[in-house]
Parts: sequence; C-alpha cells; structure tokens
Amino acid sequence: MRIVFLGPPGAGKGTQSQRLIQHFRIPHLATGDMLREATRQNTAVGRVAHDYMAAGRLLPDSIIIDLVCRRLKEPDCLNGYLLDGFPRTLPQAEALDRFLTESGSPLDAVLELKVDEDVLLQRLAGRGRDDDRPEVIRQRLIGYREQTKPLVEYYTTQGKLEPIDGMATPDAVFEQICDILDRRRNPSSLT
Ligand code: AMP
Repeated sequence: MRIVFLGPPGAGKGTQSQRLIQHFRIPHLATGDMLREATRQNTAVGRVAHDYMAAGRLLPDSIIIDLVCRRLKEPDCLNGYLLDGFPRTLPQAEALDRFLTESGSPLDAVLELKVDEDVLLQRLAGRGRDDDRPEVIRQRLIGYREQTKPLVEYYTTQGKLEPIDGMATPDAVFEQICDILDRRRNPSSLT
C-alpha cells in the first residue's frame, strides 16, 4: 500500500499514521522526522537541513527529493509506505510521480484528513505549547492551506485524492480510511 498522507496540524494525522503503518505493516516515511534524525547524526543533509528547519523554511526541492527517492529504494519499502510531510510542493509531487512511474509502482491513494478550522484552533490551543498561541496557530493553518492547495488540485486531477472526514472519532476515521483503501485496491468489491 503506497500512500501519501496530507493533513493540517491538529487533524490527528499522527494517530492515524500509527494505526496505518501497524495495520499494513509499512514504514512511516515522515520527512520531518528523517531530517531531524539526519541533523542528530550530523550527516551532510542534516547539516543543511538544520538551518532551514530552524528558520521554519522548506528545504530546496532537489535535496528532499533525493533523500526521499533514495529511501524509497530501500527493501522495506517494497510492500509500500506511508509518506507524511512529502510532497509539500508541486515539483516534489512531480518528481515523486516520475520516480514511481519509472519503478512501475504508482501511489494507491492520497489521503487528505480534513477537520474544520475552528476545531483545529481549539485542539491546538489545548496543547499549551509556546508555539500554540492563537495567532501563531492561525498562521500555521494558513501556511498549511496555501502549501497544500496545489497538491490537492494536482492529485484531484489524477483521481488519487481521497478526502477523509477527520471530525469523527479516531476509530471511525480509521475505519473510513480502511474502507477507502479497500475500495481502491478492489474496485469490484463495491458491486
Ligand atoms: P515537519 O515535521 O513535517 O513539520 O517538518 C519539519 C521541517 O522539515 C519543515 O519545517 C521543513 O524545514 C523540513 N521539511 C520536512 N519535509 C519537507 C519537504 N517535503 N520539503 C521541504 N522541507 C521539508
């Protein structure tokens, strides 16, 4: 199962990611985590990533594309993976498609976890972290929306986008996701 997972902060993407990777036994490729690990290990990518991450800026597409494509060639990705935090730009999505076309392994679905903005604001404010002040949160959500819009359009055109109602309970959200993935894998199961 090859999945791209989109969703704003506070939508429950972390919880659903954990369930998905356990259920399908696939690796969780979260680029933010990969970069933080690279920084800890002080690799060449890690040293570059450090400054961008500290400034809250996206890394250049070429660096992150190279990192992800290399990771996708590793044996544990043969049965699929959950991409989280990538792609974040249109050139990243296009590069991913080129890679997947060449390797003959298209994405099964792009899940977009959707939660009303006022609920996200409440949930994030409840976390009580320093960077969770209302105006900071609002900016993050606006940033997310702007960044994600071209990706949503891109994957909608491809017929890959699957909006998920993230307002339900975690169990219900997970069930919804599994139904959708089932349907994409076995279209005949509908009849
Ligand atoms: P995250 O944990 O997904 O919020 O990512 C943390 C930081 O890692 C981001 O603020 C970016 O600096 C960097 N990063 C993660 N994923 C990407 C990506 N796909 N493209 C560029 N930079 C990224």
